[in-house]
Amino acid sequence: MKNFELARPTTLNQAVMALAEGEGAIGGGKGPAALLAGGQDLLTELKEHLAEPDTVIDLGRVPGLDAIERDGAGNLTIGAMVRLHQLEEHGAIREQMPVLAQAATSIASPQIRSVGTVGGNLNQRPRCWYYRNEASVCLKKGGLACLAAVGRNKYNAILGGGPSYIVHPSDLAPALIALDAEVTLVGPEGERRMPLADFYLLPREGGISTETVRRPGEVLTKVHVPAPAAGTRSTYLKFKERESYDWALSSVALVLGMDGARVNRARIVLGGVAPKPWRVESAERLLEDNEIDPRTVAQVREAALFGAQPLAENGYKVPLTKGLITRALESLA
Ligand SMILES: Cc1cc2nc3c(=O)[nH]c(=O)nc-3n(C[C@H](O)[C@H](O)[C@H](O)COP(=O)(O)OP(=O)(O)OC[C@H]3O[C@@H](n4cnc5c(N)ncnc54)[C@H](O)[C@@H]3O)c2cc1C
Repeated sequence: MKNFELARPTTLNQAVMALAEGEGAIGGGKGPAALLAGGQDLLTELKEHLAEPDTVIDLGRVPGLDAIERDGAGNLTIGAMVRLHQLEEHGAIREQMPVLAQAATSIASPQIRSVGTVGGNLNQRPRCWYYRNEASVCLKKGGLACLAAVGRNKYNAILGGGPSYIVHPSDLAPALIALDAEVTLVGPEGERRMPLADFYLLPREGGISTETVRRPGEVLTKVHVPAPAAGTRSTYLKFKERESYDWALSSVALVLGMDGARVNRARIVLGGVAPKPWRVESAERLLEDNEIDPRTVAQVREAALFGAQPLAENGYKVPLTKGLITRALESLA
C-alpha cells in the first residue's frame, strides 16, 4: 500500500474541496484523492495497488449523512453514510419496500453490513478478477483489451458487455432503480440530482476506467426513494455460487403496482449479468395491464434475456436468470 495523507473533514464543503483538489476539479490538483466511507472496498483497492491516492478523505465526521428520513407522504431520504444493516432493520423499508430490505440482507455478512455504507455500496468497484488482480493489465487499467472476453469469464456479463465485460456488483442498485430512486451529488460546482439509473455507465458509453457519471470532486450525499403507491408488491431474488457471503451470479429486483390480480406498473432490474444494473423495459411492458399467468411469465422472461450474448463460460446465466424472473413473478402473483 502506498503511503497517503488521511483527511478528516468535519463539513461536506471541506470534503468536496479536498476531493476536488485531488481529482483536479479545481486549479492544478494536489494529486489523486479517494473518498473513504466504510472502507470495505477501498481498503482492498489500496492494498492491491488498484487505487493509489495521495489523500484519503474520511467521510465519517461529515454531519448529516448518516440518517434515514421519512416525510409525511412516506418518501425516504437515505444518507450516503447510512450503514447497510440500517436498511434491513428499518420498519418502513421492511414493510413497504421489501425489495430493498431483501437486497440489503443479501449483501455479504452481518459484519460487513454493519460497516459498509449505502454510498460505498453504490460506488464500489467491479469484482472481475482481471481487474482485481494487481498483475493483470486489463482494459479498465489501461490495457489494450478486456482479458475476460477471451479468458476465464464464468462471472462476466451476458448483456450490455463490450469492450469491457465486467458486471456491476451492488445489490442495492438494482433494488433502488426498481423503486425509481434518485441520487444527489454535491461537487465544487454545486448540487445535482438524477435518477440512480442514469448514474451508471456502460463501457461503450464511456465507462471504461469508471462506471459512473460522477464528476471530479463530487460526493454522492443522498438517495431519494419515493413512497410506493398503495398495492405495490416487491421482491429481490439473488443467486450466489455458495451459501456463504458472495456477490450475485444473477439477481432480479421486481416491483409491481397491482390492481387486484392485474399489474398496472412494473419494474424489472437485473443484477450480476451486465456492466450496470440492467432494467428491461420491454419485459416490463409485457406485464403491464396483464395478470401474472404462465403465458405472460414465459413472455416476460424471454423478453428480459433477449439479446443476451454469453461468453464462452457464462451461458448458464441465461437459464439461471430466466428461472429467477419466473420465481420472482410467481412469488408476487
Ligand atoms: C467479502 C465481501 C463480500 C461482499 N459481498 C457483497 C454482495 O454480495 N453484494 C454487494 O452489493 N456488495 C458486497 N460487498 C461489497 C460491500 O457491500 C461494499 O464493499 C461496501 O458496501 C462498500 O461500502 P463502504 O462504505 O465500505 O465503501 P468504501 O470501501 O469506503 O468505498 C467504496 C468506493 O466507493 C467510493 N465512495 C464511498 N462513499 C462514497 C460517496 N458518498 N460518494 C462517492 N463515492 C463514494 C469510495 O471512494 C470507494 O471507491 C462485499 C464486500 C466484501 C468485502
